[in-house]
Amino acid sequence: MLTVIAPATGKQIGDIPETPLSQVDIFYQKGKTAFLQWSKLTVLERAKYLLKLKIIIVEQMEGIAKIISEDTGKVVTEALIADIMPTLDGIDHITKHGEKILKRQKVKTPLLLIGKKSFIEYMPRGVVLIISPWNYPMQLAMVPMLSALAAGNTVILKPSEVTPLVGKCIEDLFIKAGFPEGVVQVAHGGKEVGAAFTNGKPDYIFFTGSVRTGKIIQQVAAKDLIPTTLELGGKDPMIVFADAHLERAAKGAAWAAFTNSGQVCMSAERLYVEKTIFPQFLSLLKKEIMDLKQGNDQEADVGSMTFPAQLQIVKDQLEDALSNGAQLETGLPPEKWAKGMFLPLTVVTNVNHQMKIIQEESFGPLLPVIPFENEEEVISLANDTVYGLNASVWTRDKEKARRVASKLVSGAVVINDAIISIANHGLPFGGTKQSGIGRYHGEAGLRIFCHEKAIVEDNGQKKSEIHWYPYRGKFPLFLQLFKSYFQTNRDWVKFAQYYLRILKKN
Ligand code: ADP
Repeated sequence: MLTVIAPATGKQIGDIPETPLSQVDIFYQKGKTAFLQWSKLTVLERAKYLLKLKIIIVEQMEGIAKIISEDTGKVVTEALIADIMPTLDGIDHITKHGEKILKRQKVKTPLLLIGKKSFIEYMPRGVVLIISPWNYPMQLAMVPMLSALAAGNTVILKPSEVTPLVGKCIEDLFIKAGFPEGVVQVAHGGKEVGAAFTNGKPDYIFFTGSVRTGKIIQQVAAKDLIPTTLELGGKDPMIVFADAHLERAAKGAAWAAFTNSGQVCMSAERLYVEKTIFPQFLSLLKKEIMDLKQGNDQEADVGSMTFPAQLQIVKDQLEDALSNGAQLETGLPPEKWAKGMFLPLTVVTNVNHQMKIIQEESFGPLLPVIPFENEEEVISLANDTVYGLNASVWTRDKEKARRVASKLVSGAVVINDAIISIANHGLPFGGTKQSGIGRYHGEAGLRIFCHEKAIVEDNGQKKSEIHWYPYRGKFPLFLQLFKSYFQTNRDWVKFAQYYLRILKKN
């Protein structure tokens, strides 16, 4: 049984039965059986189910936001804007563009394959296993689920055991929307359940979570060459140049660092500020942070942490930094933290690039601020971690912003804002380096859940082809044919002559 404790209040708010490991095969069998029918529907027919789900989510929006907020400790406004809204917008995007993205695409056929036509077809893979995390428990489960479903797959979701109420809520929503039996199944439980389903030979694994677990999953998947998408951590840099709108950048930094209590793979975890404005910017930032209200009511800005174990990671990083000379600008040293899951919003300066606080993902309300001299230096500092998920560049100089953005080794870069690239479902989403493998959202978001199949069509009327047997006498003719074709100025006369001569050899 998964006992549900509300992180903000410490109260027990429910119990969710775990899926017994003996059910793994049954889930896969059900998923495979349901796939036979579900995959036969057209994208538009499947879209009708998604639209029904959308109506239900819209009707129950407030209630769902409260469940997410209770289960995670995040403020209810963030449940709405960062979990529910992206899910609904994902449905809009998929239902609007899915048919076009997944339909057979005609591509050019080279002249040497004369008389043939070429197409790409997208064929659903089968049963997709989606393992999702606790920080955005609705969005990060739903968007891959909806994409996999629209592409014709059936889905097994293993939501995070840290936020099981949201997992249950998702299961109930799909039941209410009337998806056929076995098309969506939810397996509740922790890492043992996740591991058992990973070992159950799904046709695809879509994982969002820590780098550590991502690597385990990739190893298990490799045994059977199961394709995966891994959406992992980040240590995202925010770069503020002296010519930025500083008030906006300070407000932006406070939000980008502390939204969802910093438990965001794309939150600003390193703030680089141009040296000439460093003191000025720091005081603007502190002022913004002082104005934030922490709590769990509707008026609060920042909620509690979600996962108790995460507090220890944040504490370790902060202690390491302080003991190595870092200076607290806001917040408290760990020994003065109050009990419970609310952490002080913490800004530190005087850090060096080797510290854990700079190199390791914090996933909490911890923001180191680092001065930089020039463009070249800040690009090299920003790229100096094992991660590369998102980044932001703040300046009024559009050329400079684009130049810096192009040089960052990052899955996404936002200019004069942060994080929000994920909110455009038309853009690919994913990481570089240890932030992950693969992309979703955009066209990739639907196509990853399909076998991309190359089709070449011949009308079958000719008796033979020039590249078929017999080869007798063809070698010198092919030599001339290819020379005439691939030389700098194509010789069409010679090409036609040799083509006909080879044809005669058939
Ligand atoms: P976090 O610490 O951010 O929760 P995890 O990577 O531990 O990140 O968890 C993300 C998801 O992966 C959760 O649903 C969790 O239950 C699941 N999980 C954890 N370990 C494993 C594993 N060995 N195999 C499969 N799933 C796992």
